[in-house]
Amino acid sequence: MTDLRSAGRAGGYSCSCGACMPSPAMSRRRFLCTSAAGAVVASAAMGALAGAARAQPAGGTAPGRPILIKGGCVLTLDRAVGDFEQADVLIEGGKISAVRPNIDAPNAEVIDAGRMIVMPGMIDTHRHMWQGILRNVLPDGSLEDYRNLIQRKFGAAYTPDDVYAGNLFSALGAIDSGVTCILDWSHIHNTPAHSDAAIKALADSGVRAVFAYGNGQNETGRFWEMAGAKYPDDIVRLRKQYFSSEDQLLTLYLAGPSAAPELILKAFNAARDVGARITIHVGVGEFGRNALLEKLNAANALKADTTYIHCCTLNDTEWKLIRDTGGTISIAGYVETLMGHGNPPIQKAIDTGIRPSLSVDVETSVPNDFFAQMRTVFSLQKNEVWARRLAGDKDPPKFLTVREVLEFATVEGARANGLARKVGTLAPGKDADLILLRTDRLNVMPMNNAVGAVVTSMGPQNVDTVLIAGKVMKRNGQLVGVDLAKLERLGNEARDRLYANAKVKNTRI
Ligand SMILES: [Zn+2]
Repeated sequence: MTDLRSAGRAGGYSCSCGACMPSPAMSRRRFLCTSAAGAVVASAAMGALAGAARAQPAGGTAPGRPILIKGGCVLTLDRAVGDFEQADVLIEGGKISAVRPNIDAPNAEVIDAGRMIVMPGMIDTHRHMWQGILRNVLPDGSLEDYRNLIQRKFGAAYTPDDVYAGNLFSALGAIDSGVTCILDWSHIHNTPAHSDAAIKALADSGVRAVFAYGNGQNETGRFWEMAGAKYPDDIVRLRKQYFSSEDQLLTLYLAGPSAAPELILKAFNAARDVGARITIHVGVGEFGRNALLEKLNAANALKADTTYIHCCTLNDTEWKLIRDTGGTISIAGYVETLMGHGNPPIQKAIDTGIRPSLSVDVETSVPNDFFAQMRTVFSLQKNEVWARRLAGDKDPPKFLTVREVLEFATVEGARANGLARKVGTLAPGKDADLILLRTDRLNVMPMNNAVGAVVTSMGPQNVDTVLIAGKVMKRNGQLVGVDLAKLERLGNEARDRLYANAKVKNTRI
């Protein structure tokens, strides 16, 4: 099995497969090669899916050559660098080396951004990517429906091949819609082979991913009784086998379980023993009114390495604990309004002094694009302020601005994913994760306000070009190196196999 998406890049890569050669900053390639060489026991289905995702060598730019993104409206979101009505972005060795007007780089391959907005790729801090083959299966469901159908029925029946397919679809869909970095909140580790499959799909997709290792799924929800599962102890092997380098697109988190405090503390300890950051759902619906964070704090378990998801029904003490221990948060506003988590706590976070990141959560009920997430928190916060004003509040909170929301989707995402030093803004020295958004489309032209256009009107149809670590993943509106027809067939096969194994009838309507 070869990594055809990487094959077009600087110098090729090297491993025991014999097709590679050493080069600097090649840890991701080494990782992929290790997988191909047998560290992951890849099934035939996985091999076929990988082949589908990588049927073509990476296109768009020549390997090793600098890239000059020319003449775009550049929103760096870096306060020191500023924004430009028209400027160039120079990329060398996968990193941004300059952002300014009129860069002269005669050796560079030029990408014309004359009718584009250039900005950092969007960053999702919580998505259950294994569900990528169950998109839209639960459009009318509540949290209870989700638990019963998605986790206890489908999740219990997932094979490693299904995990691979789900993760691959979710990752490629993210890239296609302008998300360059995504935290895979992965609670499908029914066996260690499920973990290997999830990681392999993330690597094969080419997305910058945070793999958050979570518990398995069974029919009862009591994951700690699962015979073949190794959560959380297998994190030691995963760290060693896949995440020994900082210099790669994949990083390791632990996804804390929704369970008794003793089990949560055990998982937190396992994470910290291997230096992995943590993400955990808290304050979800009625169940979330259990003062969990006060209990964890009593065991000194709250630290700056943790991202708290949802936070809808936390008490005031818990909010202060998050702030005072330096934690980050992730709001999945769209799903929270749909499924009964509680009011998305945007204003609460701001009042507490915490800037939130955003997340899609479940593609079983939620669109995969981040534009929808931005619009959701924007309108919800403004609605809340307007409601207070109408109720006679003489000192209402300030309205959010579109720029703040864009920062939530980029800068704050990078922070919550532990990657602020690498991504989240367009500044010299950072990895070149960026997107080009078309302004010559009927949903936004003629252009009047770039930040306004992105947050209030754009969608995946405006995402023309996507780069991750300087590698072109999407160009001219098409994913690079992905055979969609083949991928679709393989997705259909995975879906049908899963329905059969779970004994669920699929009516398709
Ligand atoms: Zn979630």
